[in-house]
Order: sequence, then structure tokens, then C-alpha cells
Amino acid sequence: MEVDEIVKCVIIGSGPAGYTAAIYASRANLKPVLYQGIQPGGQLTITTEVENYPGYEHGIQGPEMMVDFEKQAKRMGADIRFGVVTKVDFSSVPYKLQIDEGKWIAAHSVIISTGASAKWLHLESEQRLNGFGVSACAVCDGFFFREKEVAIVGAGDTAAEEALYLSKLCTQVHLFVRRNEMRASKIMQDRVLSKENIKVYWNTETEEILGEKKVEAVRVKNNKTNQTQTIPVSGFFVAIGHQPNSEIFKDWLTMDEAGYVKTVPGTSKTNLEGVFASGDVQDKIYRQAVTAAGSGCMAALDAERYLSEKGIH
Ligand code: NDP
Repeated sequence: MEVDEIVKCVIIGSGPAGYTAAIYASRANLKPVLYQGIQPGGQLTITTEVENYPGYEHGIQGPEMMVDFEKQAKRMGADIRFGVVTKVDFSSVPYKLQIDEGKWIAAHSVIISTGASAKWLHLESEQRLNGFGVSACAVCDGFFFREKEVAIVGAGDTAAEEALYLSKLCTQVHLFVRRNEMRASKIMQDRVLSKENIKVYWNTETEEILGEKKVEAVRVKNNKTNQTQTIPVSGFFVAIGHQPNSEIFKDWLTMDEAGYVKTVPGTSKTNLEGVFASGDVQDKIYRQAVTAAGSGCMAALDAERYLSEKGIH
């Protein structure tokens, strides 16, 4: 294949992990090229206020924060490009990446920061009210529903953890489980079931989220009895899992059964030397902007060390 250019470091993705990697890699003179992907700025561009990122005393809007990240990376000299990496060929070094199903570029090191996408129920009302009471992250947005009633859908460890988190802030948490049992670990289930202000609705599916401009209630149906009920809530949390954006790497990188890229613990190293992973594509536990940014920094430092060991300057 024809390669259009060869660079020292390509960063894939433009969330906190990718931009932080770009800041560090630029300052280390790796002259990184960053491809922003389908959703420049990543998952934070679909949230509203971010109050838990250190350094913003009064909080900041998610999209605005990502513009700050981008500007900082640019100011350090990162070459930020609008484009999607559609295919990779990691069979030999330098590694090859195809951009927008067209040209190929080669890179001596690659930092993967493609993130993960929350799974949604795909209701029209869920999309319309996203950011107006509908959220896929209790740790990010739960605070806005202090002393209010909220609902959460899901039955895995994330749903259990988020329901417990919300129960500390909200007056009442309504948890909708679609089967008659939860998938979450026993200990998490026990905690959820013994919490006074969490009410579990078994065999229950969400039919619609109600509200014009913001969430006001949710209509659910019991799939055994077909009975519906409307529950007034101010927030609606979806916790039915995430999908790491790792599809294009599956022929090359070691992943767990859910598709999260495996890294050597304590590093950003993947099974291929010179290929590093950071942020949510390799983290199913923490998934925070600040942890993603931290791991982006690790990836840039690992890439820098790798390139200097290989004598690529
Ligand atoms: P999981 O895939 O484990 O669970 C998703 C849950 O969502 C399932 O219970 C599923 O129901 C339910 N669900 C899926 N689609 C729908 C739908 N359309 N309507 C209603 N419910 C739906 O995802 P998690 O994010 O919970 O966890 C991912 C991984 O991360 C797991 O391995 C988990 O153990 C791990 N994790 C560990 C934590 C920890 O150790 N502290 C914290 C968080 C996650 P059903 O059961 O019926 O399929």
C-alpha cells in the first residue's frame, strides 16, 4: 500500500485521554498527529456541566472543557486533524493507519484513545432529553439531582454502583431491572437490596421518559403483567453497559471478552510494542475524565521512552 506520510506518533481520539497524550507528546517533541474521530471532544461533548474535574473551581460545561483541551494541545504544537481512522495494519513497523477510508499514513508509535460509547435504550424521549435529566453517568451528573427522586435502568455492576451512589444524594432511587434477577455481583446486589431508599422494580422495562423540556416522569411496564405505571422523577440514568470503540484493532490487539484493550498493569502498553492505549477504551471501571487524562499522560510518556529506546528522534 502507498503511504502518504510517516510520523513519529499518531494519537487516535480526542477525549481527555487523546488531548492529554497530545499535550505531553508535543512537549516531548514527538510531533504528534491526532485524529479526532467521529465525535471530536468525545463523550464530554454530550454532557452538560462538569464539576468534578480539578482546576475548574466553579465547574465548566463539558463541550467548553474539551475546547480548552484542544486549544492547549494545539498551542503545544500538536497537529490536530479532523478525520476518522477507519482501518489499521499493525503487521509491521512503522504501523499503518487508514484515514477516512482513503489515504494511509505510517507511524512509529500509536496511542489509542478512542474511548467507549454508552449503550442507550434508543427511545425517542431518551435522545431528546439527553442532558436535560437523562444521563449515562451518575458520578458525573448525580449531584444535580440532590434531594430529588431519580430512576435508573440496568442490572449489572455499573447500575448497582450508580444506584448506590445516587442513593446517597437523592431522596429516592427507582431501579428498573428487565428480568427477575440482576447480573451484578452478589455483594453489590445485597447492598442495593438492603438500601432503604432504593426501590427495585423487577421484570420492568422503560416505555417512555416524560417531560417537555426536562425529565418529569417515566412510564414503565411490567413485562409479566403488562401493567404500566408512571413514576415522577427529575433524573433518568441509563446504566446498561458501555461499548469500547476498539473494533478496528481486534485483529491486532489483545482484548477482554467485552472488547476493552488489555494493557500491562501500571502502564499503557498493549501486546504490540509501540502501540499504547489510554482512557476508556482500556478502562471499564473508573471512566472519568480525570483518570482518562492521567492515562493519556502515561501513554505519551511510554511512547516517548519507546521511541528513544528505538533511536527514533
Ligand atoms: P453489564 O454488561 O455487566 O450489564 C448490563 C446490564 O444492563 C445487564 O444487567 C443487562 O440486563 C442490562 N441491560 C442491557 N440492555 C438493557 C436494556 N435495553 N434494557 C434494560 N436493561 C438492559 O455492564 P456493566 O456496565 O454493569 O458492567 C460492565 C463490566 O464492568 C462488568 O464486567 C462488570 O462486572 C464490570 N464492572 C465492575 C465494577 C466493579 O468491580 N466495581 C463496577 C462497574 C462495572 P440483563 O442482565 O437482563 O442482560
